[in-house]
Amino acid sequence: MRAKTRFLAASLAALSFTQVGCPVNPATGERQLILISQQQEIAMGQEYKKQVVAQIGLYDDPQLQEYVSEIGMALASESEMPDLPWSFQVVDDPVVNAFALPGGPIFVTRGILAHFGSEAELAGVLGHEIGHVTGRHSAEQMSRAQAAQLGLGVGSIFVPEIAAYGDLIGAGVGILFLKFGRDDERQSDDLGLRYMRHAGYDPRAMVGVFDMLGRVSEAAGGGGLPTWLSTHPAPENREARMDETLDSLRAAGASLEGTVARDRYLGMIDGVVFGEDPRNGYFEGQRFLHPDLRFRFDFPAGWRTQNTAQAVAGISEAEDAIIQLRLGSGASPAEAATEFFSQGGVQAGNSWSERVSGLPARWSYFSATTQDGQTLRGLALFVELEDTQFQILGYTPANRMGTYDPVFRGSLGSFGPLTDPAAINVEPRRIDIVQIDRAMTLREFADRYPSTVDLQALSLINRYDEDERIPAGAEVKRVVGGRSE
Ligand SMILES: [Zn+2]
Repeated sequence: MRAKTRFLAASLAALSFTQVGCPVNPATGERQLILISQQQEIAMGQEYKKQVVAQIGLYDDPQLQEYVSEIGMALASESEMPDLPWSFQVVDDPVVNAFALPGGPIFVTRGILAHFGSEAELAGVLGHEIGHVTGRHSAEQMSRAQAAQLGLGVGSIFVPEIAAYGDLIGAGVGILFLKFGRDDERQSDDLGLRYMRHAGYDPRAMVGVFDMLGRVSEAAGGGGLPTWLSTHPAPENREARMDETLDSLRAAGASLEGTVARDRYLGMIDGVVFGEDPRNGYFEGQRFLHPDLRFRFDFPAGWRTQNTAQAVAGISEAEDAIIQLRLGSGASPAEAATEFFSQGGVQAGNSWSERVSGLPARWSYFSATTQDGQTLRGLALFVELEDTQFQILGYTPANRMGTYDPVFRGSLGSFGPLTDPAAINVEPRRIDIVQIDRAMTLREFADRYPSTVDLQALSLINRYDEDERIPAGAEVKRVVGGRSE
């Protein structure tokens, strides 16, 4: 949980689709069946862009944002659609991913930035994402989806704040992560290569990007949001195909020389946050601690938990009960309760005032009906800490309420101020760039310049195997700081 944002309900389903024919795309030279106009496409992209910013959050580093934006704009100006409302932003997400929204907005995660080895690699990925936009791949997919009567609406639960667990994450962003087909990926690879060459970058960097994605794919662990790997087909043949393309360019006498800018790039990502950022809240077992908002909260034993930009939530082992905590509205717990119950679909039951960990609080039972007609019952707690309102809901199908009532009471009642200085002052891990004065293996590097991640993670971000020799004078990434584990 991060910013003071509220759930955004999209109204995109209301957009009317009109047949606009089968025009030739200037980027690809192909005829496309697209049922939405470019104006609609742009409008949708801008709406989703707001949701991405609200739900994932931007990475707070104006200099890095500016840098990524400048590179992206230079590439976009080399495309066939320089006048689209392009934007290039870094989201505060540790996973390795990059994605494009219809009509111009493009995002890279801070996680993928930590894994690139040069500006040319960043340019290659930005170029590839620009290719998805100029190729109008999302519009094409949405047109297909429309044919299949796939709704673009958000969530299936009537009350926006009461979401199914699976919807908590990526609620409303589902359409963003359309998986493109292999043909679209090849086309974007080709377009991206063209844009990066025209912008003066060394196209061979794209091979390094595929190498990195391959390594990340091999080591892949689960992350919160979808990664590059779930939104893009495996890099397998794409690296070989890129090699062939570069060979044929060489054979045709084309120069592959261009900007690589490794030093400049590493200088830009020196100090960037690496991995989960505990400032956004973190778990110690079932206890959730939030250093900036200064609270702690205990989820019931055995529940699975998840922290997103908008809420922190848990689900019971039997997956029949949910507890979720988010920021509330209003100036007092009573006001927050009134606002919550003024929305349609939720009925207040018995309610009372009773302090929690010494904090002013309002409790209330409630019931709600889901869109598929199921009745949910639950317990809500509205509590105030340092002038901030928090809303915590526990809910379950009506016939399970008897079982879960004491569980909800126990968990909701655990909310309290965070006072442990070590927890309040927790810092994230960060990338630190070191120039080595003599040749050494990555293993030796890790001994001489200790990191707070293991050798495997170091190997991934540097793309050196553990016993591979790194030449003297090379700049190598290590990871410093963070909580000791
Ligand atoms: Zn792609």
